[in-house]
Order: sequence, then structure tokens, then C-alpha cells
Amino acid sequence: MSVRLVPALCPVCYHSVAAAFFDGGNQPLATLGWPASVTAAQAMARHPLDFVQCPNCTHVWNRSFSYDAIPYQNNPNRMFNRGGIWKEHLVTTRDLLLERLPKLPTVVDIGCGEGHFVRGLAEAMGGEGRFAGFDPNTTSETGRGVEFHARYFEPLQDMADFVPDAVVIRHVLEHLTDPVALLELLAWGAAALGKPVWLFAEMPCIDRVFETGRLADFFYEHPSHFTTQSFRTLIERAGEVVELEHGYDDEVVYALVRLDVPALMQERVKEANTFAQQAELSRTRIRAQVDELAASGKHVAIWGGTGKAAAFIHHFGIDAERFPLIVDSDPDKVGTFVPGTGQEIQFRDVLKSSPADVVIIPTQWRAKDIVAEMKREGIRANQILIEHGGQLIDFEQGGHPYR
Ligand SMILES: [Zn+2]
Repeated sequence: MSVRLVPALCPVCYHSVAAAFFDGGNQPLATLGWPASVTAAQAMARHPLDFVQCPNCTHVWNRSFSYDAIPYQNNPNRMFNRGGIWKEHLVTTRDLLLERLPKLPTVVDIGCGEGHFVRGLAEAMGGEGRFAGFDPNTTSETGRGVEFHARYFEPLQDMADFVPDAVVIRHVLEHLTDPVALLELLAWGAAALGKPVWLFAEMPCIDRVFETGRLADFFYEHPSHFTTQSFRTLIERAGEVVELEHGYDDEVVYALVRLDVPALMQERVKEANTFAQQAELSRTRIRAQVDELAASGKHVAIWGGTGKAAAFIHHFGIDAERFPLIVDSDPDKVGTFVPGTGQEIQFRDVLKSSPADVVIIPTQWRAKDIVAEMKREGIRANQILIEHGGQLIDFEQGGHPYR
């Protein structure tokens, strides 16, 4: 049999090649359509069932799925919660989380539906704590020890505002086109709180599909199907997986995760933010130096006007009015114009007849070559400046690694 590969980005591990898995053709919505008549049912729009599998993490998904085709607003997804075995499963998973909760906990349930799970937790705790459910499809109400928020959970903002001890996401992640985004934001939100934050995540598991070959699982409203392996791959992005179990006759998989972000990544954020702060300071300082140069009345030339030299011109306000003279060593660039500011780029020989007081070389790592070229060509300048350490410094006198 020939191998059928499909270029498709795995929504769980971001592997970019998938294997053909199940082509179900074009079919109507199966569970969220609610047609009101025979005619309406038969006239329903058809959508492609184009399931592929990731060879890396084993995830299965409909690569032709579009979220816009799903009318969630009109027809909230109703989960069946009353079967006996299902009730047992709810108690087992509720207890798993209860064991870890501190006294007076704050628990948020993302995509809580009508809130039976978070309400169960609240009741088990005797209402001692804060229990909040988020679901854009519920009506906003407060009752029986649970507060409802009829909106999406905004991970970074809401983690900071609610400071939860546990976050519950049940039967939600498999409906998202980018479940990693939610989990990683939760992990970052939790890392900022400086206390243990538990994540309880649960979803259907399709491991038995492979044993049984059954196909009824695959319909349009379920674009994403997790195996145990792809579920683990997903939740490991959120932190340390402390427990991973199956329930309901192995049809669901759930996990308890300690939300966290590796210390190294947190350190890198600090470093990046420091760079951002320094960059702002550098830009302000160098712009001031540029203004000073303009005010000094000195004859200034910029060596280079495209690529990184153009970026330099943009960052530091080297406008055409104050700094009309841009030169280059490359005859191919002569006669072209600096993007954005519009100075015409001239050949460096122009500096022979009309020497500059100051030459600025925006490309530091080429400065040595350019200075040698100036000497060779008999181009003189009182001062050569480069950008280093957040300011313009003298190439000959200043401390820098480019000489
Ligand atoms: Zn994958």
C-alpha cells in the first residue's frame, strides 16, 4: 500500500506532516444542527470530514474543520450527566481534586456548562471557598454556592484576578482549534501566582477506536480526537503531570497537572523584558545624540542606506532634511533611495570632494572594513561613529568589540 501523507500542522505537538486517517466525505452537523423539519434536515449544509493522524503524537483531527461552521451560540453542547457509571466517574474525579485542595479554596471551571462539576466540588466542600464557572453559553446567575460568568476565561487576566488553587477543564480542550494556547497561558498565569495551582483536565479518549475500528466517533462537531499519548503530549505543555488515568470504561482520559512553567523559560522572559526596556532607553539616548549632531551644524554622512543601515535610519530618526547625505560602497545601490525617509544613496567617492566631519557606520561588524576602505580611498573624517551599548560611540577611541 502506498503511503498517503498530508501537509497539516498537528494542533497538539505542531508536527507538520500527517497521515491520511479517515475520509468521511461531506456530512451535515450531527449534534448541534437541530433541524426543525424533514425538509430542513435534508437541506442541511454539508461539511468535510477530513481526518488525519499525527505520526509524532498520534493525535487525530479534521484538518478541514472551520469553527465558523458551528452554531455554538444557538445550541449549547448538552452533555449527558445522568448515567449511573458516569455519576461514579464524576465522583472519582471530583475526589481526586478534593484531596489536593487547601481549606477555603478558589476553583474555576472553564467551559463549565450548567456547572454540575464545580457545583459538586462546592457541595463537597460545604460551600467553604470560592467556586466560579465560566461558559459563554450559560446564562449569568449566582446560586447554590457557585458563581457563573457568562464569558470566556481570559487566562492571564483571570488567573491574576481569581488567584485559583485549581482550574478545571472538562470536555472543552477537544473543541478548541488551538488547545495548546489555552494551556500555556494557564501555566504562565499560574507561574505568576507563586503558589501551587492544580489543573484537572478531562476529555474523551479514542484509544479504543484503534482496537475496534469504529467510525461513529468522527463527525464535524468533534474536530479533535485525543489518544492517551496526544493527551499527555498536550497537558505536559501545562506543567508537571502528577496523575493520568482513564475512566468510564476507558472512554475518557483525565489528568491532574501541577501548572507551572520551567524556571529557565521564566528567566528568559525576564531577560527579554529587560532587553525591551534597554532598547527603549537606547533609542531615546541615540535619538538625542542624533538631534545634537544635527544641531551642531556638522557635515554628517551615513555609510549605508539599505537593510540594517535603513533600520538604523528608521530607529533613530535620521530624516532626509537634517541628514541628506547617505553613501555606500556598492555601486549597485547608488541612485536608489532609503526606504521611508527618501535620501538618495550616493557613491562614497562624493566624500573625496566634500569630506564629512562625522561618518556614521550603522553596520558595526563591517566598520573595520569600511574604515580600511576609507583609508585606502583617501576619505577622511574627523570622527567615525558606531552604535554600541545603547549609544553612538567613537570607532577609534570607544570601547567596543568591532575594531
Ligand atoms: Zn502531533
